[in-house]
Amino acid sequence: MQKRKVNLLLVWFVVIITLQLSFGIRALTTQFDLNNKHNIASELEVVPQIGTPAAITDQVLIFFVDGMRYDKMLEANTPNMDSLMANGTTFSNYQVILPSYSRVNYAAFSTGSSTNMTNVFANGYDDELEIPTLYSLITGNDLNKSLITDEGGWAKFLGKDSDVVVYPDTVSHSFQEGLVVKEAALATIPGNFSNIQFIGFDDVDAAGHDFGAASSTYIQMIENTDSYIGEILDLYNSLGQLNNTTIVLFSDHGHEDIGGHGGETSAQIHGSFIFAGKGVSNKGLMSDKLTKINSITPTLLTMLGISLAPTMNGPVLFDFIDSTIQTKAIYAIQQAEIMNQQLEATINEFGIMSNKAKLPYITGAELVTDNITLAKGNYSITQYISSYNLAQEAEESARLYLSLLLKQLKSISELLRTLLIIGIVTLVSATIFYLNRRRIIEVAHQEVFSKDQLIPQLLGMLSAISICIIISAIFGFKFAATSFNSTNQTVPPILTSFFVSGALLVFLPWLAIYLLKSKSSEFTTFKEWKKLFIKSSIGSMFFISLPIFGYILYYIAQFGPWPSWIIPPLADTYAFWIIGIMPCILYIIPLILMLILWRSGKKDKAAIG
Ligand SMILES: [Zn+2]
Repeated sequence: MQKRKVNLLLVWFVVIITLQLSFGIRALTTQFDLNNKHNIASELEVVPQIGTPAAITDQVLIFFVDGMRYDKMLEANTPNMDSLMANGTTFSNYQVILPSYSRVNYAAFSTGSSTNMTNVFANGYDDELEIPTLYSLITGNDLNKSLITDEGGWAKFLGKDSDVVVYPDTVSHSFQEGLVVKEAALATIPGNFSNIQFIGFDDVDAAGHDFGAASSTYIQMIENTDSYIGEILDLYNSLGQLNNTTIVLFSDHGHEDIGGHGGETSAQIHGSFIFAGKGVSNKGLMSDKLTKINSITPTLLTMLGISLAPTMNGPVLFDFIDSTIQTKAIYAIQQAEIMNQQLEATINEFGIMSNKAKLPYITGAELVTDNITLAKGNYSITQYISSYNLAQEAEESARLYLSLLLKQLKSISELLRTLLIIGIVTLVSATIFYLNRRRIIEVAHQEVFSKDQLIPQLLGMLSAISICIIISAIFGFKFAATSFNSTNQTVPPILTSFFVSGALLVFLPWLAIYLLKSKSSEFTTFKEWKKLFIKSSIGSMFFISLPIFGYILYYIAQFGPWPSWIIPPLADTYAFWIIGIMPCILYIIPLILMLILWRSGKKDKAAIG
C-alpha cells in the first residue's frame, strides 16, 4: 500500500473557496437581510386611538435633498437653510437606516418604518409599497397632497396617493435637475396649492457620486439647492402661507469624501434633518438626540392629528412639537400598543426559538401591556401627564425587548450561516479526500508548478489583472466608490472584466507555452500539449488567488473574523461580490480540470506500468 500524500494545492483551493464563500454570504446579507424573511407586517392590526387628538398644523412643506451630508450642509454657505435652522430644530445626530441606499430610505421615510416592514433593501426595488405611507394615511382628511420631483422612487412610493404630481423631464446627473424641479414648483404651487407639498432635489447626490463629498462641486450643489429652497420659501411668503406651514428638510444618506454610500460609515449614515415652522416647539435648537429617518412621518402625522399605522416603528419626536399633553398622551398610548403588538407578532413569528427561550420576552410583553392599561386608566381620569409618561415608559420597554429579541435572532441566524459554510466546506473536503483515497485523483503540486511553466502562469495572472483595470477604465471605473449606485451601471463592467480576465487566465499561459516551445519542437503529441495547458491554467488560478487572499487577510486584520466583517462604502459591497461569490464559480473550472488531469495522469501511469 502506497502512502498517500496530502495534495497541498487542493487544500489551498478549499481554503480560498471557504473564505470567499464567507465574503459572498456576508455581501448577500447586507443586501437582503435574511432575518427579514419573516415579515410581520401582514399580521399587524390597526390600533385605535383612545381619544380624538388635536391637530397643530394642516400644512406641511417637505424639502428632500438627496445625499446631503450633515457636516457639509453646515460647511456650505446656505442662508435659506440657516433661516430654517433659526426657525426650528436641527438634528446633529440624524441618521438614516441601513443599508444607506436611497430607496431603502425613501421607503423608511414614506412608511415611518424600517426594512423589516418595508422589505426595501436596495435601489433595485421598483414596486409600490405594500404598507401604509404618509400620503396613503392622509387620504380622506380633506388635506390634498402634491409631489414634485424627478420620476423615480418617490413617484413609486408617494405618487399614487398624491393629488398633484409633477415629474419634470430632466436629464439625470446633468446638475440641472434641481433647477428644473424648482421651476416646476414655482409654476405649479400658486394655482394648485396643496396642504402637503413634497419637493425633491437630486443635484447634491449627483455631485456626491461623480466627484465625492469633499469636492467643491458637492458644496456648490448644496448652495444651488439652498437658493432653490429660498425661492420656494419666498413664494410661500408671497402667498401668505409661510407662517402657517410646518417645514421639513431632510436627506436620505450622506456621502463618502470620495463619493459613494450604501454602507455603514459615519459619512454615509449622517444625513441632514431640519424641522421648522408651525408647531415646532424649539426655535434655533441644535439637538444631538439620535434621530432616525423613520421618525419623521409618525411625528408629522401626530402634528396633523392623523392616526398612526401599526407598521410604524420610528418614535414620534414628542419633545420637539407643540401638541397638547392630552394629544401627546393619545399618541404615546397608541405607539406603545403598536410597539407591543410588533413585539408579540415577532415572538410568535420565530419558531426557531424554544418556548423557554421566548419566556422572558413573553413576560416582557405582558408587563408592557400592564403599563399601557395603567396609562389608559390615567388618561380616562384626565391625568394626561402621568398617562403620557407611563405610555412612554411602556413604549420604550417594548422597543427594548424587541431590539433584544431581534439581536438574539440575528445571532442565531449568523450561527446558522456559519454552520452552512462549514457544511459546504466539509462536503467539498470529504469528496476530495474520498477521490484521493480511491486514487481517482493522484498528482503532486510539483507537476503544476514546474520551473518552465512559472513564467507563462505569472503572465496569465498579470494579463488578467491588467485587463480588469483596462476594462474598468473603459467603463470609467463605474464600480469604484465614486460611481452611481445603480446596478445597470456597475454590473456590466464587473461581468465583462470578470469573464475576459477569466479567459485570459486560462488560455494565455497555454498559448505562451506553445509559442515558447513549439520552435524547439518539444511537443510530440497533442495530448502532451493539452496536459500542459491544464497544468498552466491551474497554476495561474493559484497565483491570482494570492492577491485575493491578501485582501481577505486585510479584512480579517481590520474587522476580526467572520461574521463581524462590516462593509464600509458602496464599492466594497461590490468588492465582496467580486472576491466573494464569483471567483468561487471561476475556481470550479480549474478544479474540474484538475480532476481530468489527475485521471489522465493515472491512465498514463497505468499504460506505462
Ligand atoms: Zn440618495
